[in-house]
Amino acid sequence: MQTMNMKQHQNIRGEILRNEAMSKHTSWRAGGDAKLFFKPADMDDLSLFLSQQDNEQEIIFVGLGSNLLVRDAGIDATVICTSSVLNVLEKTSDTSLYVESGVASPKVARFAAKNSLAGSEFLCGIPGTFGGALAMNAGAMGGETWDIVKDIKTIDKHGTLHERKASDFNISYRSVKQKPDANFVLGADEWFVAANLQLQKGERSQSEQKIKSHLARRGATQPTQQPNAGSVFRNPEGDYAARLIESIGLKGYCIGGACVSEKHANFIINTGTATAGDIESLIKYVQKKIKDECGIELIREVRIIGEYA
Ligand SMILES: Cc1cc2nc3c(=O)[nH]c(=O)nc-3n(C[C@H](O)[C@H](O)[C@H](O)COP(=O)(O)OP(=O)(O)OC[C@H]3O[C@@H](n4cnc5c(N)ncnc54)[C@H](O)[C@@H]3O)c2cc1C
Repeated sequence: MQTMNMKQHQNIRGEILRNEAMSKHTSWRAGGDAKLFFKPADMDDLSLFLSQQDNEQEIIFVGLGSNLLVRDAGIDATVICTSSVLNVLEKTSDTSLYVESGVASPKVARFAAKNSLAGSEFLCGIPGTFGGALAMNAGAMGGETWDIVKDIKTIDKHGTLHERKASDFNISYRSVKQKPDANFVLGADEWFVAANLQLQKGERSQSEQKIKSHLARRGATQPTQQPNAGSVFRNPEGDYAARLIESIGLKGYCIGGACVSEKHANFIINTGTATAGDIESLIKYVQKKIKDECGIELIREVRIIGEYA
């Protein structure tokens, strides 16, 4: 039997919800509940909350859930959502910004452009938080999140903050892991809470023009009107997942309410009634067909958590 921690949730100012539907917090708008869902008031509140947590309880940080599928039976864990609450965004020098994890990535791009800083325009169409961009090494237009990171701040499961350098991590295409000799496990007992970004002096009008044309291209090529989680699979070396999926005729293929987008074959859309089970089954079906017909192992970019219904 679990013993009750009497200190738990004392003087917490943020929002604590039980059995919160994760479909409200993921861009696929599908999936089960989180046993406990916490939205801190600010960094100090987050720190206090973690210091009172049961060490056995699994903790999962989420941002805007734009790269996340939560299975239909939900997650027996504490979900901590930073979106729009860890939201400090400041210019700290002629060429640098301080950004907390809950700031939306497009806001970073617009803020930098407005301050005549170049280099973060690629973030303009990535609809997640900066914490999620750090976790995923999100990228677009040839740019990647960690290209512009000088150093970062993390928080551990006891609520203690740490300063870390980019060199503390192994960073590659849509992947960020702690170094093998690290004394922490990213995503299990330590999470991103802020970063210092190194940008270049630029021209406001040029950056704003780049952002405008990038967003126009996205609007033309991506299914922006239906719930989705962006690219489901990583591009295999030297090829594109979308090209492969289209080449075997899977555009428009559906399982339940989940369909391979007609507009972009690497996107799976929720047509309105998709369960997380429908989406995951379609992901597995596409992987199997590509393996059978093209001999290529498609690796998922989206993260899947939780229990099967
Ligand atoms: C329409 C659309 C277009 C997209 N286009 C792109 C694109 O061009 N390029 C691209 O790379 N991605 C793209 N994505 C995917 C997604 O937006 C990015 O991966 C984004 O960075 C995820 O941020 P998030 O806040 O939504 O993270 P979430 O989905 O909430 O979380 C993603 C993962 O990061 C972990 N995580 C979240 N916050 C933290 C934190 N603070 N510390 C540690 N771990 C954390 C979560 O546990 C989870 O494993 C797109 C998605 C959509 C819906």
